[in-house]
Amino acid sequence: MAKKRTKNEVHCAFCGADSGMSQLIVEGIEAAICDSCAVEAMKIVEESLGSKKDFSSKDSKLKEGFHFNPELTPKKIKEYLDLFVVGQDEAKITLALAVYNHYKRLSVRGLNKEVELEKSNVLFIGPTGTGKTLMAKTLAKLLDVPFAIVDATSFTEAGYVGEDVEGMLSRLLQSCEYDIPSAQVGIIYIDEIDKISRRGENPSITRDVSGEGVQQAMLKILEGAEVNVPPAGGRKHPEQQFLKVNTQNILFICGGAFDGLEKIISRRINTQTLGYQSKDLQEKNSCQVLHHVNHFDLKKFGLIPELLGRLPVLAFLDPLDKAALKQILTVPKNALMKQYEHLFKMEGIHLKVEDEALEIIADLALENKLGARGLRAICEAVFRKAMFRAPEKEMGTELIVNKAYLEQEVDLSSFLLKAS
Ligand code: ADP
Repeated sequence: MAKKRTKNEVHCAFCGADSGMSQLIVEGIEAAICDSCAVEAMKIVEESLGSKKDFSSKDSKLKEGFHFNPELTPKKIKEYLDLFVVGQDEAKITLALAVYNHYKRLSVRGLNKEVELEKSNVLFIGPTGTGKTLMAKTLAKLLDVPFAIVDATSFTEAGYVGEDVEGMLSRLLQSCEYDIPSAQVGIIYIDEIDKISRRGENPSITRDVSGEGVQQAMLKILEGAEVNVPPAGGRKHPEQQFLKVNTQNILFICGGAFDGLEKIISRRINTQTLGYQSKDLQEKNSCQVLHHVNHFDLKKFGLIPELLGRLPVLAFLDPLDKAALKQILTVPKNALMKQYEHLFKMEGIHLKVEDEALEIIADLALENKLGARGLRAICEAVFRKAMFRAPEKEMGTELIVNKAYLEQEVDLSSFLLKAS
């Protein structure tokens, strides 16, 4: 028989605290618990049941199926990309078309079962910081579909230290709160695909668990299959129940810099054709040579033919020149200069960056060979001092950044590759 408690005798059955020692004591039939033990208990419950949550019961955004906005023609898609991405016209057109066909294929699927339209996964080739990720991200925003960015180098063949390739689907599911039907028409951007190339052109005898092994593992997912996905990703929760995700309508965009690819292409062009055309091509710089790439060159680089077969659309991103870098600073909807203008405006300061200062910033980024990726760090250095002083209201109402300002006020020496 439980001992009948009077109000004064109530003790927490876990820590022994009485009502004088804790804010609240909840009484049960046989025992009581204080507020702090209840919070601790809740944490334990969440931790141990977290990986067993029923993710499948979520209400989907796509209850009535996927409807592709018929007004989104390839031209409209490119116009939208133009708002955020500078240059790269050829890549934008290729991507816009691939995406248009991909989502058209989803709409047609129900109507015409005789014609099976093949998936048009995309492979981006271009130096770092030229807008590959930005383009994929912008596209997902336009289409309002779930989007995930993954790094190919983080994966290893199943059973080895590292992440299984199914992890990319966990990431996609997490981006849309486990809304499986939405995730099934989402976009996954796989970065650094060139870093998982196999060691030699021929199949390796020894295991290549982070190169060829990953490529092999990705085949099924890229092609389109029912995949068992660990909702929390990784292998930390072996008890978690898998979610079934069909990858048939997920668009995969892979990207990589493919350093050294131009040499492979030049070699092929020179050995294949003789005479006028070869000479002509020889004169073109390495960037233009990239536009002549074909799947044989990529195979030589180390991508396996089966993977290349699943990436039928090739798009190139050109290295960004000074003019493009200057435009990136000022033109796109969320251009860096617009962001800094806004930050200073919030302090009551009108920021004016003169063209000569933009030239210097673009020159430094060009020298660092980081593409547009380097612009942000340089701008931070340029505005750091002024942003520190701005809230103190000691700078007046206008800040003019020109060559003289940069020389006097800013230390950009760390961005100079050559010692001055
Ligand atoms: P990567 O080609 O290596 O994937 P990202 O797309 O991640 O490069 O670009 C890095 C950053 O540089 C982006 O956040 C973006 O602000 C800027 N950037 C790169 N290329 C462009 C471009 N063509 N137009 C506008 N911004 C760009």
